[in-house]
Amino acid sequence: MQVIDENTVITNYQGRGRDALLPVLWDVQQSEGYISKENVHQISKTLRVPEADIYGVISFYSLFHEEPTGDRIIRVCTDPSCGLVGADDVLENTRQRAHGCTVESSPCLGMCDHAPAGLVSIIGKGDFLIPATDSDTLIKVKSQPTYTANTQSTQDILLKDFSQERYTSYGGYQALHKALENHSPEDIIQTIENSGLIGRGGAAFPTGLKWKFTRQADGSPKYVICNADESEPGTFKDRVLMEERPHLLLEGMTLAAYAVSAQQGIIFVRGEYPVAEKILKRAIAEAERAKVLGDNIMGSDFSFHVEIRRGAGAYICGEETALFEAIEGKRGFPRIKPPYPTTHGLFAKPTVVNNVETLCAVPEIINQGAEWFKSIGTEKSTGSKLVSVSGHVKRAGVYEIEPGITLRGLLDDFCGGVEGELQAVLMGGAAGTFLSPDEIDVKLTFEDLRTINSTFGSGAIMVFNDSADLRDILKRLAHFFEHESCGKCFPCQLGTQRQVEILERVDNPQSGDVIRLQDIGMTMTEASLCGLGQTAASAVMSAIDKFPHLFEEQ
Ligand code: SF4
Repeated sequence: MQVIDENTVITNYQGRGRDALLPVLWDVQQSEGYISKENVHQISKTLRVPEADIYGVISFYSLFHEEPTGDRIIRVCTDPSCGLVGADDVLENTRQRAHGCTVESSPCLGMCDHAPAGLVSIIGKGDFLIPATDSDTLIKVKSQPTYTANTQSTQDILLKDFSQERYTSYGGYQALHKALENHSPEDIIQTIENSGLIGRGGAAFPTGLKWKFTRQADGSPKYVICNADESEPGTFKDRVLMEERPHLLLEGMTLAAYAVSAQQGIIFVRGEYPVAEKILKRAIAEAERAKVLGDNIMGSDFSFHVEIRRGAGAYICGEETALFEAIEGKRGFPRIKPPYPTTHGLFAKPTVVNNVETLCAVPEIINQGAEWFKSIGTEKSTGSKLVSVSGHVKRAGVYEIEPGITLRGLLDDFCGGVEGELQAVLMGGAAGTFLSPDEIDVKLTFEDLRTINSTFGSGAIMVFNDSADLRDILKRLAHFFEHESCGKCFPCQLGTQRQVEILERVDNPQSGDVIRLQDIGMTMTEASLCGLGQTAASAVMSAIDKFPHLFEEQ
């Protein structure tokens, strides 16, 4: 009988359970470029997970491969902001020239400020997120190039220029120090509730309330999860925060853990963010050395540990319950709610899930108080807010705004103005809505946007001038949702497919296509199980409303 050598990458996981499935698959994928049958067999024995389940997981996540790949896997983003600046040509040129490489198109890589974006994985060497200006860059890159984000802030809360040194010293975590010295967990929750902070990931749920429910829930251990699976097309603010303010995030997570009485935290970072992952790992080690993270933080009896889990290319894992499934080593299917994560979250234990930006807002609220935070913005949109602006503006970037400035003010004062004649703005990402040029005097607050049936969503703002082909943009958005629908419920699985089919013929529409799109859109919105399906038609529905000429025969 042939004896197959055991893969030591896998034997390192001996004694672990199913929740180690994504990490071990990542280790194998990175060392060998794909996950072979032999490796699946060994993983199955090591983690005691059926092979069929492992294949199910591999096929669910687009960054894993079951078949041998080339020496490097090159992915080029072809979502709207990258599509505007020639991503399709870069992809095609790379396909023709990159011999021995695997070349794929990719959904948004969260680097719209350096569009077109590319992700290059070199077997045994790692993954590199790069501005993919041409095919040469993608074929030749050997290490991670440095890039900087355009940022600007009038508030200096989230984008405050913290020195890393300040944060690696014991005194860096001032808010945490203040909390541990002077405040009970209940005080911290009350302060966050009073501040009016609401979730920045898109759902806008009150953060203090979420923490209160989790603290009050029976069951232990409790978990704090940072949802860093930022995958909404056009959104890159969380990437910038993680790359540039990692300690702010760790301090926010630790405060959340203190408040809800959790000892374990996980940052679930999207697989396409290798730079952020590396920076966060370094920051965790620095914080542990400085005794502001780990056992007996700052000499107290409070302990909190943070680990990083890397997603593997599935937008749906940004949905909080799908994220739990991913961490537990399963396909990222959303769970039916209730029960809610605050009582039955990760491993069915009480869990707080907060977005990166939400957690980064916490330390300064503790430092300066709820009233100070409330004094920024408006009554219902308190505190500063980050937006990611891309497309036809002079300066794409991440901007920290005071809610209440107008969209026009943002575009003119922060982004240097629109390039060319404004045609449309997609507000809130792929799941958001189109605005017409006569709507850009809207104030950027949760409540003002609601009055025009729009939303902050993920904070993505994509700008299109009159050279943009909006039909093409709609097709890209529809393909994105069709690709990312997990298939658990029919309205979304079939609706996203029908939406693509109809939009593919939008240049030569059939009679009744608008009614078909509206019917499908309404069905998805009303009957889908989770937020993905419920918003997969938002952009299309708003385009029908704002730009009806797009759906007429040319
Ligand atoms: Fe999956 Fe879509 Fe249903 Fe959500 S709405 S569970 S993504 S099929």
